[in-house]
Amino acid sequence: MPTPDHNPETREFTHTIDGKPASSPISLDVINPAVGEPFAKCPDATKDQLDEAVKAARRAFKSWSKLSFGERREYLHKFAEAVREKVEDMAIILTKEQGKPLSNAMFEMNGCAHELEAFSAIEVSNQTLRVDATHRVELIYHPMGVVGGIAPWNFPIILGTHKIAQALYTGNTMVLKPSPYTPLATLMLGEVARDILPPGVFNVVAGGNALGQWMTEHPGIDRITFTGSTATGKKVMASAAASLKRVTLELGGNDPAILLDDADLDSMMPKVFMGAFMNCGQICMAVKRVFVPEKHYDTVVDGFTKMAQNLKVGDGFEPDVQMGPLQNQMQFEKVLDIIDDTRKQASVRITTGGHQLNRPGYFIAPTIVADISDDSRLVKEEQFGPVLPVLKYKTIDEVVERANSTEYGLCASVWTTDVNKGAEVAERIEAGTVWVNHHVGSEADLPFGGFKQSGVGRELGLMGLQSFMEPQVIKVPLQ
Ligand code: NAD
Repeated sequence: MPTPDHNPETREFTHTIDGKPASSPISLDVINPAVGEPFAKCPDATKDQLDEAVKAARRAFKSWSKLSFGERREYLHKFAEAVREKVEDMAIILTKEQGKPLSNAMFEMNGCAHELEAFSAIEVSNQTLRVDATHRVELIYHPMGVVGGIAPWNFPIILGTHKIAQALYTGNTMVLKPSPYTPLATLMLGEVARDILPPGVFNVVAGGNALGQWMTEHPGIDRITFTGSTATGKKVMASAAASLKRVTLELGGNDPAILLDDADLDSMMPKVFMGAFMNCGQICMAVKRVFVPEKHYDTVVDGFTKMAQNLKVGDGFEPDVQMGPLQNQMQFEKVLDIIDDTRKQASVRITTGGHQLNRPGYFIAPTIVADISDDSRLVKEEQFGPVLPVLKYKTIDEVVERANSTEYGLCASVWTTDVNKGAEVAERIEAGTVWVNHHVGSEADLPFGGFKQSGVGRELGLMGLQSFMEPQVIKVPLQ
């Protein structure tokens, strides 16, 4: 019996279209960011292949949409079980293509199995809106049709899984496109689904940015669920407008973490620090600005500086590594550019880091920046990398205003021993999620999304599931 080929250099990665593998005439190199060299090939879907995937999804919609939530839940549970059997294989590929430590890739893969089950545990039911002397009025939710999912490269699997679980559980079928930087683990997810889901229910096609654009223009796709940068999100919304596709956009952020006077520094500093440096700072809801009251400023800057110096940075396969490389050259150069700009700011202090590592791959030393102005690029833009500005403030009103003075509004956190005061400050922050004494994370039952230019609409939770369905009012006279 031939043994399965696990070597990514020789193994063929294929799209999943109508439940079957498909290759393309052209392939793209997939680069290992820990060395900056290609290690595998990924097929680049043609427009015809996208058409085939959409047609297959439309055919499958007829019967999939008629199943009950309970029947679709059973399928998603089987899918989760099959993913659990492949967690290690897929995590190895995820680390190779994304760069994150293997333990984090394992966590992401286990999260995939968990989320497939968690979303399908949420009850979605029709509602009675009114019964009066003359009428009964019901609100009925219908599946929308074919969902196009477009995912980024920072958490390819978990963000893809949110899309799959929400779309499929609510009775839609789907075509999912991973980022061209990190397509392989998602293609493997498609392979796993081939044996579990009816053909056409879940299609995975890989390709470049043009493929994403074709999806937003495609007349056979009814809804787009997009996660990525704000700049691309605007293009997606503009393109989807032509056919009035339903859209949710999960975009960038510039999250503030606000320490109050009474914060317990020993317990919160490591949490805020990891909230900024986890996944090499490449998280939409990473801590991207820390606001510290004057009296704690020097302690916090010193504490973060030591933590940054002690963080183990390296190839995701090295033992005990805590932070890998930036995921791609474009992001690596963008972060180095922001560091260059930071260096030019008056009276700024880069207390540690501020340079790339002297080794191949896209590595930047964990960097702490003090005494920087709110007008600098590092504070105003989404750095999406391992560089953290620490900002000093005097009053609560001042810090609330500065925290809100951004075009983004994804998440935020307030750190304090007085949780009621923390909740009061939290309500004043313009962001879709604000935690007290916590930062980073999403839960299947809690709606997630951004204020302002961090997004449009909400996914996750009942609100998110309902956004994958069309609500319909049925008004019936009483006999
Ligand atoms: P990106 O916008 O460059 O790419 C995202 C996806 O869009 C990729 O699959 C890409 O191929 C595709 N794409 C590119 N151009 C397109 C077009 N014109 N039409 C349709 N699709 C197109 O984002 P990225 O660099 O992969 O991801 C990083 C960004 O994602 C950061 O800004 C981060 O904050 C954001 N993000 C947001 C969330 C959230 O939930 N809010 C989560 C993770 C990442």
